[in-house]
Amino acid sequence: MRTHLSNPLTSVRNLGILAHVDAGKTTVTERMLYLAGATHKRGEVHDGTTVTDFDSQERDRGITIFAAAVSCAWDDHRINLIDTPGHVDFSDEVERSLRVLDGAIAVFDGVAGVEPQSESVWRLADRYGVPRIAFVNKLDRAGADLDAAVESIRRRLHKAPLVAQLPIGREDGFSGVLDLVRMRSLVWAADGGLRVGPVPDDLAAEAWRRRRVLEEAVAELHADALEEFCATREAPDGRAISDATLAAVLRDLTRTGEGVVVLCGSAYRNRGIEPLLDAVVAYLPSPLDVPPVRGERDGEEQERAADPAAPLAALVFKVSSTATGRLTYLRVYSGTMRKGDTVLDAGTRRAERVARILRVRADRHTEVDRAVAGDIVAVVGPKAARAGTTLCAPDAPLLLEPPNVAEPVVSVA
Ligand code: GDP
Repeated sequence: MRTHLSNPLTSVRNLGILAHVDAGKTTVTERMLYLAGATHKRGEVHDGTTVTDFDSQERDRGITIFAAAVSCAWDDHRINLIDTPGHVDFSDEVERSLRVLDGAIAVFDGVAGVEPQSESVWRLADRYGVPRIAFVNKLDRAGADLDAAVESIRRRLHKAPLVAQLPIGREDGFSGVLDLVRMRSLVWAADGGLRVGPVPDDLAAEAWRRRRVLEEAVAELHADALEEFCATREAPDGRAISDATLAAVLRDLTRTGEGVVVLCGSAYRNRGIEPLLDAVVAYLPSPLDVPPVRGERDGEEQERAADPAAPLAALVFKVSSTATGRLTYLRVYSGTMRKGDTVLDAGTRRAERVARILRVRADRHTEVDRAVAGDIVAVVGPKAARAGTTLCAPDAPLLLEPPNVAEPVVSVA
């Protein structure tokens, strides 16, 4: 049996960014792709060059309408970024893309906090059991207030906010963050360069006070944290919970959805994006950490694990016409899809051919020979597949159901 340590799937993150329109989803995506080396050109929303906005209608309207998936790499992990539309009119598409995510970043405006659309997308994500971390953006704006945004997360989203960073400086003077998990400072220079150092003396008292608030919050929610907290409450270095335990507990609480880690920054000013990518890797689940996908075969329910050796089952979540041809974006849930394979549309029982498999990067498409369980790729070849189609092994047909669907989880903070 495969162990998590030896399985390359542990280093995959299938991730979406959820936000109210204008909260900064496009800018955050853009900065992440830039830092993670997927693009060499820093796109700006206002000049219409952002790399996830494939469609001209989208560029014209300045809102992210159509989902696309882009791969990038960070800290030896592959991050597949599935662009989820933020506009409320397109909630079908939001829902469709939520089906293929293992985790998400919820972006909030640091001035407005939780807005109505953020609430509706948040509930959908609850329904699909998508673990989330929160990024409070635009801390450089006049009136931005992390604590007020955190309070709105607690009040309107009914989640225990686990504040893992504090801003250094306010509004125009916002220059960096205090990392409360590793007790250090991250300060960005005007050119975007990042300097990591100790917590400055003048901020130490507040940092330790807020570290304690975080420790108390996790101790209430997690047995390991509680045990350590009770045993070492009076620790001389100020920590009642070690950094390693705290990080592990934050990961657990993110994955169970009992709490939401809150980070902050300013995407526009390139502040806070590196630690956000670190948090994606540290806290959000890999395809192996989520429940097996369910499907139906001959009237019977079956489960399929994220195992490359199992029969193929893949779900199409978007089809788009591009210069490369008709691209069918899909997530492979189990098995392996190879270039040249004939696969079955589980709904219509029609055969479809996989002519090419592409890993879509921001600035180019890379052709690959195969896609394995956990992967998100675009394929060329299928003619009739559309969003919602299951493509599967002809000798083991399986019609996928929406994965991870659960009743809304309401946890009381
Ligand atoms: P989306 O609609 O959620 O994709 O949001 P965009 O990324 O398009 O951002 C909406 C507007 O807010 C744009 O004009 C951005 O330049 C601006 N914006 C995004 N992030 C920040 C930020 O961190 N600070 C400030 N001041 N403006 C931002």
